Amino acid sequence: MSLLRPLAQIRPDARTRGFWEACRRRELCFQRCADCGAFRHPPLGGCPHCASDAAEWVPVRGPARVFSYTVVHHAAVPQLAGDVPYNVVVVEFDDAPGARLISNLEGVGEIRIGMELELCWDEVDPEVVLPRFRPRG
Ligand code: ZN
Repeated sequence: MSLLRPLAQIRPDARTRGFWEACRRRELCFQRCADCGAFRHPPLGGCPHCASDAAEWVPVRGPARVFSYTVVHHAAVPQLAGDVPYNVVVVEFDDAPGARLISNLEGVGEIRIGMELELCWDEVDPEVVLPRFRPRG
């Protein structure tokens, strides 16, 4: 899948490294506060709920659902001109309440809020593996 690949330049830092390393293992992990248990994404240096800086990486399996989406018809940058129209979805997970991931759906015509999704992986190169989604089933 070549969707949006020209822009897939990932530069992990101390906060995001755990997320991207898990993606390379084809495991979707979100940061969870080790004190109050609140999930958060994108990763942060501290918990917005209890201010603890203790965190752990927790694998999630879903089910995943469409929380929101849009379909982009105008390429914001020239590198995406060949990809329009493309979708951008906000995905939520039953087993990681509070964490939402921005991604894309592959192989789908109509998108509905609440649509069940399954995770698939887009290996841009051996160092960059992106979580994508497709309709479940
Ligand atoms: Zn907390």
